[in-house]
Parts: sequence; structure tokens; C-alpha cells
Amino acid sequence: MAEPLQAVKGMNDILPPESGRWEWLEDKVRSLMRRYGYQNVRVPIVEPTPLFVRGLGEVTDIVEKEMYSFIDSMNGDALTLRPEGTAGVVRAVVEHSLLYDGGKRLYYIGPMFRHEKPQRGRYRQFHQVGVEALGHAGPDVDAEVILMARTLWRELGLTDVRLEINSLGQPDERKAHRTALVSYFEAHAEQLDADARRRLHSNPLRILDSKNPAMQALVDAAPRLFEHLGEASLRHFDAVRAVLDAVGQPYRINPRLVRGMDYYNLTVFEWVTDRLGAQGTICGGGRYDGLIELIGGKPAPAVGWGMGIERVLDLLQQEQLLPAATPPVAYAVVPDAGALPQVVVCIEALRAAGVSVLLHAGGNAGPGSMKSQFKRADASGARFALVFGADELASGQVAIKPLRDAAAAQSTRALGAEAAWAAELLHA
Ligand code: ATP
Ligand code: MG
Repeated sequence: MAEPLQAVKGMNDILPPESGRWEWLEDKVRSLMRRYGYQNVRVPIVEPTPLFVRGLGEVTDIVEKEMYSFIDSMNGDALTLRPEGTAGVVRAVVEHSLLYDGGKRLYYIGPMFRHEKPQRGRYRQFHQVGVEALGHAGPDVDAEVILMARTLWRELGLTDVRLEINSLGQPDERKAHRTALVSYFEAHAEQLDADARRRLHSNPLRILDSKNPAMQALVDAAPRLFEHLGEASLRHFDAVRAVLDAVGQPYRINPRLVRGMDYYNLTVFEWVTDRLGAQGTICGGGRYDGLIELIGGKPAPAVGWGMGIERVLDLLQQEQLLPAATPPVAYAVVPDAGALPQVVVCIEALRAAGVSVLLHAGGNAGPGSMKSQFKRADASGARFALVFGADELASGQVAIKPLRDAAAAQSTRALGAEAAWAAELLHA
């Protein structure tokens, strides 16, 4: 036998019944997007490497150490498995001039790739839902995307998710803050770790994002960007807050919330839970008015977020909010192989009428004994067995045997009239 192969470390197979829960969540997401007017986009999983280097910023965790980058051996192109969704969507929007007639509201669902240390809530292939509202400058859209996430939590039944927000202001405001930050960290150089020392002059704001516990006190006392925000930035932030207040959504202003990518400005936010240990951020995003121009488009504002599907499912699991697997409504028992054509005609009609039916698959030796078939029918979780016995078939009928209710009696229904009785099975 050939040696068995394994999936790449940090990349998981999503198998039944778990995959059913993924579909359930994705259905909820799609329904949400429809109601807010967000349309689906599907962009490639592989993009030119410069897209991310330029878009995310060279001095970011992702670009410095997390990207799956490779050279296409056929033509020497530098390619990268997408580590996040925004850059690719923006590339597509620019490439296809999607903003020529105004704004666009888009969403995606799909895999992302980051070379991180695999642990709970942190994988090398993980999945995100993302929304991007492009071409709209106002705080109304910032509030809209934040509230979309809140609606999703509510519809999933999640109550223990907090909102943190901050404003990163505009580039010139960040520059003033940066100067203050660099002098502060320079004055405390002996307390900086290696990462921070390296970033001190390339990207000091990133130091605020440090997860090193030894640096927390230093970071907490650092100069705040908030103190450098101008009037327009403050007005934008206040307008977002006014909407959150109006709908009764509590939030905490977290001055240390700077997000992992360089492209953000003005509003940034995260949805956080305490129930997932260190990987508590289930959704994060913000405004990125500079990115479209950076990627070669005509300048246009934008705002969006990315949500980690694995983390949301983990949280739902802990809160016991995931639905049980849905068994088939009916299981078709086939006493005799010769009956198969009639059986299939019947169950095809039932499926067309919306009933889920699992056909007993017997293999080359025939369907097998009734006893073994009923055992399978039971194990399938189906509510009914459809029994196609010789007597029933001869009189144009199928027997319906309730499997979950011992007191219920077996009955028969007419073949050829499935549409008339399918609803009985569905609503039993
Ligand atoms: P973290 O600080 O946890 O590394 P991040 O700031 O890098 O998160 P984003 O790039 O904002 O994360 O991605 C949006 C969301 O995607 C995160 O809030 C999280 O829920 C999820 N996510 C990010 N990286 C991973 C990963 N490696 N595995 C699973 N989910 C992830
Ligand atoms: Mg990260």
C-alpha cells in the first residue's frame, strides 16, 4: 500500500457533520447580506504578491512573516495565496471600474492563508466572511457595516460579543502622532522588544499592536493618536457613535485598537469575546480611504470588515447555539432489486416536491435483507421508511412506516400522486 498522505499542518478538512454547520452559518450570512443590499463577489485565491505588499504595508505581521508566497515555475511570476480579502476585492473593483456609477456594497466568503503558529482559533488556512462598502465617504456606512455584524450576532443567538472602536484619523494626523510616539519609545528604548525596536522607525504605530505582555505597561502609557485628531476626524467619529447610541449598541473606545494593516484610517473596530481565550477577536475592520488609490484606482473611500468563520463557529459551539444535523425525511427501503425503477420514479417525485429522501444503496448483491435495511433506515435518523413491497407496488402504492413514533400506524399512499401527499411527510 502507498504511504498515506496528510493535509498540510494548520489546514483542516471540514467534514460532515461539521460541514453542515458551516452551510447553516453561510446561509445566515447570505440572508443578512441580501437584507443590507450587499452583493457577492468571488475573486481569485492567488494574487500577484505586490498587491499585498503594497496594499497591506511592508511592515505588517502579514507581509513580514505570514504570507504564502511563491514563484510560478511556469513563468517566474511572484504570487501569493491571499492572506485577507480586501486587497483582492479592491484590485477587482479597480480593474473592472466598478465604481464608475457610484458606490458598491460587496461581500465574500472564502479561505485565507497565513503562515502562523497553528492553535485554537488560529490556522494556516482559515475562512472569512468579509464586507466592503466602496465609494461611500460618510460615517453612515461605517455605522452600517458595524451594525450588520451586530445583526448577525443577534440572529445567531450570540450575546457575549463586545464592540470596540477607535479612530485612526487621517495620514497627517497620524504623522504628528507618530513623531510623538517615536520620541516616547526612544526615551524608553531599553523596554522595547526586538520587534518593537525594528519597527520604531519603520512603523511605530504597529508597536501599539504588540501582544508581548512585557510591553503592555509601556504601550498603555504611550501618547494617544486621539489627542492628534483634527475637527473633521472627530466629527466623523462622533457621527458613527451617534448611530450606535441611537440603536442602543454599547461600545468601548479603545485607543490602542490600531488593526494589523496599514490601509486603515478614521473608524476602526473589532468585535471581541472573552470566551475564546487569546483568539477573542471574531470580526475586525474599518475605513480604508487610501487603499483604492494605492492599488492604482481613482481615489475613492471605502469601509469594511472581515469575520473569522472558525472563531464564530467555535463560539457558537461553546454557547450550544449550533443546530443539530438535519436527517432525511424519508428512507427508501427496496425489498427487491427489480422494484428499483418504480422506487426511483416515486422518490424523484418526492424530492421534486421538497422532501429529502435517502435511497437504500445495496451494492451488486442486491438491496439486502429487510432487517438490515430497516437498521440503516433507523440509523439515518429519517422520520419515515418508504417501503416498496411487492403487494403495495402491484396495487400502485407505497407503504409509509413511521420510524420515530412507535405508536403511529403504517399507512399507504398512491404512487404517481406524490405531489398530493409530500406535504404530509414534510409537516408530520
Ligand atoms: P489576530 O490579531 O487574531 O491575528 P488579525 O488582526 O490578524 O487577527 P484580521 O486580519 O483582521 O485578523 O482578520 C479578520 C478576522 O479573521 C479576525 O478577527 C479573526 O476572526 C480571523 N482570523 C485572522 N487570522 C486568523 C487565523 N490565522 N485563523 C483563524 N482566524 C483568523
Ligand atoms: Mg493576525
